[in-house]
Order: sequence, then structure tokens, then C-alpha cells
Amino acid sequence: MLLALAAACEGVAPPGADGVASAPGARATPPLVSAPGLAPAPASAPPAASAGPDWPARPGACATTGLRAPAAPTAGPPRARAAWIEQNFGEVAKLGSVLAALHEHHPEVSELVEIGCSLEGRPILALVIGRDVHGARARPSFLLDGAHHGDEPMSALVVLDAARHLLERGKGDPRVARWLDEALVWCLPLVNPDGFAAWRENFGSGRKNRRDVGALGPARWNKGVDLYRNYPFGWGLLGGRAGRTDPMHMWYRGAVPGSEPETQAMMRLAQGEHFAGAISYHVGTVVLLAPYTIAGVRSPEPNDAWVVAEHIVRRMPRHPDRPIELRRNLYPVDGTGQDWLRASHGTVALLVESALRSRVAGTQRELSIEAIRPSWQLLLDRYLDGPSVYGELRDASGRPVVAEVSIAEIRTFAGESWTSRCRDGRFDRYLPGPGSYTLRVRVPGGGVLERPFAAGAGRVRVDVTLPAAAPPGARCPAEVRPTGP
Ligand SMILES: [Zn+2]
Repeated sequence: MLLALAAACEGVAPPGADGVASAPGARATPPLVSAPGLAPAPASAPPAASAGPDWPARPGACATTGLRAPAAPTAGPPRARAAWIEQNFGEVAKLGSVLAALHEHHPEVSELVEIGCSLEGRPILALVIGRDVHGARARPSFLLDGAHHGDEPMSALVVLDAARHLLERGKGDPRVARWLDEALVWCLPLVNPDGFAAWRENFGSGRKNRRDVGALGPARWNKGVDLYRNYPFGWGLLGGRAGRTDPMHMWYRGAVPGSEPETQAMMRLAQGEHFAGAISYHVGTVVLLAPYTIAGVRSPEPNDAWVVAEHIVRRMPRHPDRPIELRRNLYPVDGTGQDWLRASHGTVALLVESALRSRVAGTQRELSIEAIRPSWQLLLDRYLDGPSVYGELRDASGRPVVAEVSIAEIRTFAGESWTSRCRDGRFDRYLPGPGSYTLRVRVPGGGVLERPFAAGAGRVRVDVTLPAAAPPGARCPAEVRPTGP
């Protein structure tokens, strides 16, 4: 896997190398979604012909995107700043080798995956963690991501801490062992490696990616797209009050929704995994945000995402900066990753602001990471403890089926169409509480199947056999999957 990664981004400086690659020849990539608007395209992907360990491997997105550009080493950060970064964020600067070492020490429960390539050609790396990580066993997936904003490396450390906790405590701690047995956790510390590289050069830079947005003169350091305003759901819905049209603005949303390779890589990953739960870590205050964060978009009722977020916030320890609180948003936002995850796949997609300042250092940094750690732990526990529901949709011959799965008692208002996962027909949903529910499956080709079920404190399994057979030769869309050993 490591060799594949090295080859995939050959010619550009990986995170951790001295110097920052520039991308004079980097070209625009076509957006996944070409029009603004609310409703994600209903996923009517063809059913999978098979699921299992022969998932398509992605040897390296960088090799196929055409985004590679010749490295143009710069002078690097001034010596004093470089030393400070090394002391406090050295692991983010050497993320590739840090993740590789973690995987090499725990090969049986982890895989290192390149989910895509940044605009300037750096690999976007994830460590996927779970027992029998390459196996065909269907189980819920969770996403922990950091540093959509490259000037928030503290959030990358929060995700790195989660990966370490999962890998290093799996043997002695039954709580961790259960997470490894029953879930797959995608730990993705640095969504925006180009922004982080820019931040190493200039602490005033790096929030956005490095998209060249025109002749900016002395403000070139401020170029780029705010990746967390670039997701297609609700992109531009607030008419420029939230995600901005001004390329100079820190909230610049990009020319079209989903325009950036980093955003596209995250979307591709989610479209394969259908995450049950997710947390995007950021820095700037101490707060937990629950979707929908965009004003004017009506959340599902009852809103399981809000219920889960309340559950988490009530149990969080005191943060050294200030007590964590639950909010819908901090200011007007649109085009966010968490809203897109929620709208596209029903994910309980939360955002945690994990410290007041980006440049939190030393002991304060360690205390903040420790105080934030329970957020993802509680997210996993709340799903596995329930109330929640999961199951598999299969046709009469046992092949997985992609179909819309809803719960009759949970109403939605924003055009959501949440489907089962292509590779195994799996769905996973948090429930807002115990009670009587009706699982509703829209049969491909027509008709609706209903399965009443009662949810108590735990997880309920509801499998459904559909009359429709998968057409011969149908395949799942390309997924980001762990490469086999
Ligand atoms: Zn942020």
C-alpha cells in the first residue's frame, strides 16, 4: 500500500516533506454536481452483482486524476516557526509516515487508504480501522475527519488521537474491542493538505485550499476555496450571505458546487460507505453543531441527529476553554459537509469545534484533545447501544439491492432519498428513541414494502428480501475501499 501511495503522488511533495509543492499546471476538475440546489440526486445506482473482499481497489487517486504537477520547492517556513510547528504539530506535518507507522504496527485491524488527491497533488489519507478490515462482513461505517480548514491542525490531532486510541487499546479495553468488532471507523485527519502546507509558510493562510482564483496581486496568500462551503447540498442557498462569491473571502464557496478535488474525494468516500455517523472536527470555539445547519431547511422530524447530539453534549466532560454547547450553527452557513452527508445518506453528521484557537500548543493542546475525545466515543456507543435499526436489502437470490429506505414515523422535508449501500445492501440508522416504527422500502421498479418493528434500548435488525433481481452484470460505482493485503 505504501508503495502504491508513493507512486500515486510521484513528483509532488507529500505532507511532511520540506518545501511546498506548487501546481502551476493543475487543471480544474469537473464538479460531481453541476447545479446549485437542495435535492441531491436520488441514488438509483444499479444493485451490486456481488459484495465481498474483491472490492475494487484504488491504488491511488493521484495517478488517475491528472492533477499531478511538478514539485516546486520553496524556502520552507522560517526557522523559528518551523521549530514551533515541529514541536506542536509535527505529526500533522509528517502525517503520511505517522499513519503508515500506525498501520504497520496494527496491520490486522487497519488499512491505510488514499481517498483522493488534493489540488496540488498531495494524497488525502485515511486510516480505516476495524477487525477484519478487508472482510466482507457488513457493518456500520463512521467517519472522523479533521482540517477541512488547513489552518486548524489541532483538529487533525483530534482525529489522530482517535486512531491511536482505537488501535492501541483494542486488546485490553472491552469498549474499544467492541468498536473494532462491530464498526469500521474511517479516521481522516487532514482533508486539506495543501492548506496546511500554506499555513506552515504563513500562519495567516491555509484555511482554504489552493485553487488559483485569478490575479490577486499581494493577496495571493488568500487564494482558494473554503472546502467546507463547497459541498453541493444547499450550496449558495443563502445567496452569498453564507458561502461567498468573492474569491478573496475566507468563506469563498467555489465556482460551482462540489468543484474541488478534496470535496469530491470526501463525497466519493461517503457514497461508498453511507456513514451511520460522522464528526467533522474544527477549531475556533467549543461547540457541537447538529444538522441541518443551514437556515430555512427543515430537518427531519423527529430529528435523530439532534437527539444524538444532545445525548453526546450532556455526557461531555468540561473543556478547558469553555463548556461545550449544542447549536445548529454559529453564523449563516451553506454548502457544508455535514449537511451534505445528512441530506445524501441520512448520516448523523456532527461538527465539533474543539478549541478556541488554532495555534493551541503544549499542555493546553493535550487537555483539549482529551476533553474532546468522548465526542466520537459517545457517537459510536449511542449507535451500538441503540435505539437504532439496521439491516440488509437483498433479492431472492441473495444479491444486495440498492433501494430507498425510510422510516414512516420520521418525516423528511428537503427531498432526502436515503438508500441502502451498494456493496452489501446495508442500511444503518440511529433512532430518536424507543418506540414502534415502520421500515419502508421503495422497491426498484415499483411498489413499497413495509416492515413494522419495535425498538427498545438496543439495536434492531430488519432484513428485507425484495422481489426485484439485480440485472446481470450490474456493478457498484467505484468505491474507495481498503486495498487487500
Ligand atoms: Zn474549520
